[in-house]
Amino acid sequence: MSAVRPLPPPLPDEAPRQAALDAYAVVDTVPEQAYDDIVRLAVTLCDVPAAAISLIDHERQWFKAQIGFDTRQTPRDQAICDRAIMAPGETLVIEDLAAQSSFFPRPDIRIGKAPLRFYAGTPLLSPDGHAIGTVCVLDTRPRTLTSAQREGLEVLARQTQHLLELRRYAMEQRRLLSEREAFAQRLEDARADLQRRNDQLLHSATHDALTGLLNRAALVQLRDNPEAMLQLQRAPYTLMLLDVDHFKDVNDRHGHLLGDRALRAVADAVAASIRTDDVAVRYGGEEFLVLLPDTRLAVAAQVAERVRQRLSQSALPFDLTVSIGLAAGEPTRDWSEQVFDRADQALYRAKARGRNCVVADDTPLHGG
Ligand code: GH3
Ligand code: MG
Ligand code: MG
Repeated sequence: MSAVRPLPPPLPDEAPRQAALDAYAVVDTVPEQAYDDIVRLAVTLCDVPAAAISLIDHERQWFKAQIGFDTRQTPRDQAICDRAIMAPGETLVIEDLAAQSSFFPRPDIRIGKAPLRFYAGTPLLSPDGHAIGTVCVLDTRPRTLTSAQREGLEVLARQTQHLLELRRYAMEQRRLLSEREAFAQRLEDARADLQRRNDQLLHSATHDALTGLLNRAALVQLRDNPEAMLQLQRAPYTLMLLDVDHFKDVNDRHGHLLGDRALRAVADAVAASIRTDDVAVRYGGEEFLVLLPDTRLAVAAQVAERVRQRLSQSALPFDLTVSIGLAAGEPTRDWSEQVFDRADQALYRAKARGRNCVVADDTPLHGG
């Protein structure tokens, strides 16, 4: 057809054309059946020995699919397809390359062993009209295309464009999906972080920073929570009050830092002696309360004794003792305030009795 074509003007803007090709991220990908099928159809339709889907990428042409020759890519200045895309709306047909001016390059492509004589290529267009390559058919002898063959080649070019668009759409969907997943992950991380901070806040609001035991605020919360109180006092329980002996002297003699260490030692002795369901509270400076649910007085006395023993074995550089008062609570009989008062009186008696001992309600159990 175009036996002698006038020299087409240079492409107005190469950068957006290259960007249009890059958007498909198809160059240098592995062969795919769908594209291979297109060149197979082109070969059959045009009755030629070779066909290709050529993409013009920077300084080269690269073949996404090819039949009839082995070269995977050529320099761009050897690509007839690069001339074909200069007129994006037309199919370029060169009936005999040997009869052409030097405007058309002579690609270093051999079909069998013979050089190229015939070329026909339909540009591939991106949706906004950039020509990114061609579907082309090649032969080693001069020839032409029937109008049906040319139309067929143009149909194949459109099919190739659809394939490329599908590819881009799928990539876009994957990108959106992974963005959504990343967003959901960030949301989940933020939620987990918030939860963690919330837990920390709740923990620091209800726990004593020095000893790690529950604090007075937690005790107030507990007392104001009828359900939790009911749960704790469902069965006969024991309340234990514990006061450090002569703690003022400890502070005076050893200083506040060692005084604090002493308080931690007491808390550790308590924590190591009770069960996880027991509630241990530092409710005053050197005063501790332990609620032992479902625990009879005699068993609680053994627990109290263990605390005393543990403390006597602590690694403190001085002797430290505690006095402990115990009172039994019968859910059907006592208010918790009454139990507290009785435990406090027992503690008072332990102090009066010389300290470093456990006193249960009215009955002294162990001497100090
Ligand atoms: P007793 O055997 O009669 O209980 O004598 P005590 O000295 O332990 O009793 P008192 O209640 O008179 O003194 C308690 C002291 O505990 C007062 C205060 O200096 C000290 N104290 C209270 N809270 C803390 C604390 O958080 N850290 C330190 N280092 N000392 C504290
Ligand atoms: Mg005290
Ligand atoms: Mg004291």
